[in-house]
Amino acid sequence: MAVTAVDTSKKMYIVCEDERISEFREALRGTLICPGDNEYESARRVYNAMIDRRPAMIVRCADVADVIRSVNYARMHDIPVAIRGGSHNGAGLATCDDGLVIDLSKMRGIRVDPAERTVRVEGGCTWGDVDHATYAFGMATPSGIISTTGVGGLTLGGGLGHLTRKFGLAIDNLLEVDMVLADGRFVKANAKENADLYWAVRGGGGNFGVVTSFLFRLNPVSTVYAGPILWPLDQTAEVMRFYRDFITNAPEDLNGFFALMTVPPGPPFPEALRLKKVCGIVWCYTGPLEKAESVFKPIRKLGTPLLDMVGPIPFPSLQSMFDAIYPPGLQWYWRADFVNELSDEAIALHVKHGAKLPTWQCTMHLYPIDGAAHRTGKNDTAFSYREAQWAEVIVGVDPNPANNEKTIAWAREYWEALHPYSAGGAYVNMMMEEGQERIRASYRDNYKRLTEVKKKYDPTNFFRINQNIEPK
Ligand SMILES: Cc1cc2nc3c(=O)[nH]c(=O)nc-3n(C[C@H](O)[C@H](O)[C@H](O)COP(=O)(O)OP(=O)(O)OC[C@H]3O[C@@H](n4cnc5c(N)ncnc54)[C@H](O)[C@@H]3O)c2cc1C
Repeated sequence: MAVTAVDTSKKMYIVCEDERISEFREALRGTLICPGDNEYESARRVYNAMIDRRPAMIVRCADVADVIRSVNYARMHDIPVAIRGGSHNGAGLATCDDGLVIDLSKMRGIRVDPAERTVRVEGGCTWGDVDHATYAFGMATPSGIISTTGVGGLTLGGGLGHLTRKFGLAIDNLLEVDMVLADGRFVKANAKENADLYWAVRGGGGNFGVVTSFLFRLNPVSTVYAGPILWPLDQTAEVMRFYRDFITNAPEDLNGFFALMTVPPGPPFPEALRLKKVCGIVWCYTGPLEKAESVFKPIRKLGTPLLDMVGPIPFPSLQSMFDAIYPPGLQWYWRADFVNELSDEAIALHVKHGAKLPTWQCTMHLYPIDGAAHRTGKNDTAFSYREAQWAEVIVGVDPNPANNEKTIAWAREYWEALHPYSAGGAYVNMMMEEGQERIRASYRDNYKRLTEVKKKYDPTNFFRINQNIEPK
């Protein structure tokens, strides 16, 4: 068996069986996977197939003790560390070349406390795991729109999805984290204990340590009135203008994200519509079901809908509705921005670039981040853009690497055209590796405080494979 050891003096990677590595391997309850091991090729892959990195070691942690041991081992041997939750990060920040990956994907324990209305979730859970567990109690906590996304990365960056307008961002429902810090210490952070760290992890990403468990508030959500309504592409301007004015004044029970997209080429979509470029809104109404029809009345009068798939469904079914369109292993490139206003000029540009979606999985989404998310101040958590109306993301995606050039060019061109109409920064969870300036623009005046917290909890920047907050 080949095992890679790091010779830090020469900054070289030597393939050998090293005594220290054997000791490390034996001390774990989980699995250490190295180049040459059978599982290595599959274990090193992340969700975005455009990312092709070769870590020196992947530790599939079984428990907190394995996380502590991995952090200490990497620190002692000066090995770069990446943290892997659900591996969905577009920039591939769950992995690295030649470093050690702390893979949490086997740490998926969940405990719902129905009396306290909370759920405690281990660091490697996906949102599908959480929705499954909480739905049994008629409850949910805000997450995203795809069930295979990791709780870890999504939450630590903010977390926006179908429940944002009603219950806020994922971080607005985060009550506490357990963390392993760079020095191997295990700490708790909540409103009373390590409150600075609690502030920083609510938007500051994986910069401060490995979160081994999250405690979320639960909200009553069970059957929702939800799904997409699609309109012809040539009605985009009309639908977008309606959406802009309607959603910003709609009751918080109603969430709806706007999409420019192509109808998927299979069931349940009618054959006549398959592969047609369209615009759509994916709705989620969490109010009383008997009121749903009246809430949707003005929406259903708009334009000439091609398809109306909105109706009562279990919340976990909405959460996993798009999983099949975006399985792991596709090539992803995305660009993002926060948006305060959707002017008629910006809409005209959306119409122009939306008409050029280069492959059927390419898309543009506008996620509303108002309603309950606006009730938290811009300095109350590390997530800064509290006044923004939408998070925009332009996604170039396709299975075939041969199409990368055209999907990337389309996403860049589209983003460059719309960026002047944006609020400046972007949602860090929907950024590629775009440099410090972009990271600072996304945290604005919270960046300084983030560097102070970073200096206190991770002064050597041990956790640097992320949208990095530099401790200086
Ligand atoms: C198909 C798809 C759909 C998405 N939908 C949404 C959406 O609806 N809403 C939304 O807000 N975002 C969404 N995202 C973006 C998503 O929030 C980010 O990609 C996020 O990084 C994914 O988290 P993860 O745990 O799966 O990622 P990973 O790639 O595993 O981790 C990303 C980074 O998060 C940090 N991290 C992860 N887990 C931990 C942990 N336990 N402790 C410390 N640090 C950790 C690390 O720094 C790591 O580099 C989506 C992404 C994809 C690909």
